Amino acid sequence: MATRTVDLRSDTVTKPTEAMRAAMATAEVDDDVFGADPTAVTAVKLQSEVAKMMGKEAGLFVPSGTMGNLISVLVHCDVRGSEVILGNNSHIHIYENGGIATIGGVHPRPVKNNEDGMMDIDLIEDAIRDPRGELVYPTTRLICLENSHGNTGGRCLPVEYIDRVGELAKKHGLKLHIDGARIFNASVALGIPVDRLVQAADSVSVCLSKGIGAPVGSVIVGSETFITKARRLRKTLGGGMRQVGVICAAALVALQENLVKFEGDHKNAKVLAEGLNQIKGLRVNVAAVETNIIFFDIVEGSKISGEKLYKHLVERGVFVMLEGPSRMRIVLHHQISSSDVQYTLSCFQQAFSGLQEENGN
Ligand SMILES: *Cc1c(COP(=O)(O)O)cnc(C)c1O
Repeated sequence: MATRTVDLRSDTVTKPTEAMRAAMATAEVDDDVFGADPTAVTAVKLQSEVAKMMGKEAGLFVPSGTMGNLISVLVHCDVRGSEVILGNNSHIHIYENGGIATIGGVHPRPVKNNEDGMMDIDLIEDAIRDPRGELVYPTTRLICLENSHGNTGGRCLPVEYIDRVGELAKKHGLKLHIDGARIFNASVALGIPVDRLVQAADSVSVCLSKGIGAPVGSVIVGSETFITKARRLRKTLGGGMRQVGVICAAALVALQENLVKFEGDHKNAKVLAEGLNQIKGLRVNVAAVETNIIFFDIVEGSKISGEKLYKHLVERGVFVMLEGPSRMRIVLHHQISSSDVQYTLSCFQQAFSGLQEENGN
């Protein structure tokens, strides 16, 4: 049995710290569905704090990023026959059970995500339906972006790009939603204040349970009108939670404690990516590691399979995500130290140097 555990499967594995647990123990709570009582302060405080950080009028705490995206899309597309333009490799399109269609009746219009997570602006514009074709076309109402872009390895959409998509949306009378599950990673990596980064967006969904390190939840932000509609929809979907202050209290502490550590997480990701890339048998696009996510491949012809490597790592307490027969994903977070990074590298090195010995014998 390994004496050490280094969990690199995701930034969702972060555990609440002592301070978070203490805050949960003493959180002032009341029924947040009734809502009007000022003792529901913890949820209200969290919502307004996140809204303020993002430069939007109001916020709403939701149980998950998936529900945050679903509610946001449905609020913007509250007329039957609505269509949303989104990345073909986006979280909303791939990993959310098609909820916008199956629950919301919203038609997805996927546009190709490039390797950097962006969609060509020309392709977005081409995908916007001509209103003169309303007899046969769904009506485009929304564009969704994702920042940082998870499936392309945490790549960041630059602010100029988002602004241009925002202008395009305005020109055609569309709304812009940003799936900002990891928007703070993008903000830190780009060196752009988060409120500026999402300025063009009508709504943003932010995960508190990823790198920020809270145990549960997301916040969606937007205008007062947007949030009023979102609150009602949250109740419809079963996301109205009673004494939610207990988990909001942890999130407030997490925001205080962990955002300052993102730069370190990104640095650790770079060090790990460079180290892995130096191992003969692994290939990492180091330049593509912009935030806390690393995708990498076992090179063709290598004697070790993904599964075998995975097992070797698990036996040493290192947990990664196996993404395919020879593809892996690693995500850094505040509970991974630089010593964990060195230990992880040594475990990988061991797997491959062991191979060479075997070959030599
Ligand atoms: C994790 C994630 C979500 C969904 O969050 P859950 O809380 O797991 O439902 C949405 N979008 C992106 C980009 C994510 O990484």
